[in-house]
Amino acid sequence: MAIATINPTTGETERAFTPHTAAEVQRRIALAHDAFAALKDTTFAERARWLRAAADLLEAEVDDTARLLVVEMGKPIAQAEAEIRKSAKGLRYYAEHAEAFLADEPLSDPSAVGASKAWTRYEPLGAVLAVMPWNFPVWQALRFAAPALAAGNTGLLKHASNVPQTALYLDGLFARAGFPEGAFQALLIGSGEVKAVVEDPRVKAVTLTGSEPAGRAVAAAAGAAIKKSVLELGGSDPFIVLPSADLDAAVETAVKARTINNGQSCIASKRFIVHADVYDEFSRRFAEATAALVVGDPLDPETEVGPLATESGRDDLAELVDDAIAKGAKVLAGSGAPERPGWFYTPTVLADLSEDARIVQEEAFGPVATLYRAEDAEDAARIANQTTFGLSSSVWTNDPEEQEWFIRRLDAGAVFVNGMTVSFPELPFGGVKASGYGRELAAAGIREFTNLKTVWRS
Ligand code: NDP
Repeated sequence: MAIATINPTTGETERAFTPHTAAEVQRRIALAHDAFAALKDTTFAERARWLRAAADLLEAEVDDTARLLVVEMGKPIAQAEAEIRKSAKGLRYYAEHAEAFLADEPLSDPSAVGASKAWTRYEPLGAVLAVMPWNFPVWQALRFAAPALAAGNTGLLKHASNVPQTALYLDGLFARAGFPEGAFQALLIGSGEVKAVVEDPRVKAVTLTGSEPAGRAVAAAAGAAIKKSVLELGGSDPFIVLPSADLDAAVETAVKARTINNGQSCIASKRFIVHADVYDEFSRRFAEATAALVVGDPLDPETEVGPLATESGRDDLAELVDDAIAKGAKVLAGSGAPERPGWFYTPTVLADLSEDARIVQEEAFGPVATLYRAEDAEDAARIANQTTFGLSSSVWTNDPEEQEWFIRRLDAGAVFVNGMTVSFPELPFGGVKASGYGRELAAAGIREFTNLKTVWRS
């Protein structure tokens, strides 16, 4: 895949980049390695000051950076601005909390282990490689970078090949904020060059957000080198609606949850599982609201759904929909690409899916929802858990017992009750099953790339 900015609204190549040479990659890894030596001797207070300065820069430059996101991956402009502001919040969050999250933890009764004192300490690991996707190109990179840098690690960002200008912006951000040179750098390389970086002894760990095949490849390389990895992969999150739910709120949130970021979010609700008692009403209202969405230029503030980020992404989505229709699915809204330049796909709702339709199992990465009729709560949980994914889930019921029952029954990294799944700096984020392992954000996220050192003193 070429390293280039190709505007998804027009299909035009705006700017192409020459990938870094092997020598340049080596130079950057060496710099990250050396910067670690400098960074690990800095204090939490110094690193917090630099993180806050980076947040200030992000906020001051939000207009230009938001436009860059729109041009590189087609996100509606208001959502691009919101992503950047949220990223600044993430930086401030770790500036505020990193020291407490990584404070020494003493053993309350050291005599139990024959010590006068015993405790654990979190120490940074060194240079960490982050392989990142294009769908939230600032937030996803910074939700790695903020805790990594706050802990005293250094970061090497291999960003998706279609967001090189965002990658270069992030490359400069932390040095401008005061971090030592080399603390955070981008590598302009293709996916074929990732394995060698993972294997480099100066790189201590790797995190990847993206597809299952990419996750498998990177985790295999990390496993072979016995290095820590964190994987945040795809999802096909269920959105379950029970009869006691507030249907107005459920319908409104369902549309947003499926189509935010032009439908390209790992934690988007993708499968809508509705109890038979409210199925007809929910499906009618959901399809009507989906059909009414404003599709258009993502720079236009009125636009609710813009183009997909890549041509291949649009083609993959169209194939999934065509396969479902060929196997008997009913189209309640949309389907097909509108006649216009760029990689648009009309927001779509499908119902009556055959069990062997690919979309029942695979992740639909675009504005396409599938509807399932559940006979009861048990049936809803069965459908929810039937995919190989387990990222997040959303359940709509006002019955407290039913809420608790679903919290226990859903195989997912998160359950949102009467709300849409959102990632917050304050809450751990990650999945189970083929959605990956490890956690980002909150205290769990900063501890992933640390050495939990046990200290015992006689
Ligand atoms: P990819 O998983 O291919 O890309 C994500 C990142 O991984 C990019 O930086 C990419 O680099 C890199 N990468 C890809 N293959 C490898 C590999 N074998 N070894 C090392 N690094 C690799 O996502 P796509 O953009 O191709 O999207 C495909 C599908 O992935 C989507 O339709 C969606 O289902 C899922 N996805 C999920 C995301 C999530 O948030 N969980 C985010 C993005 C995609 P390069 O760009 O150079 O190929």
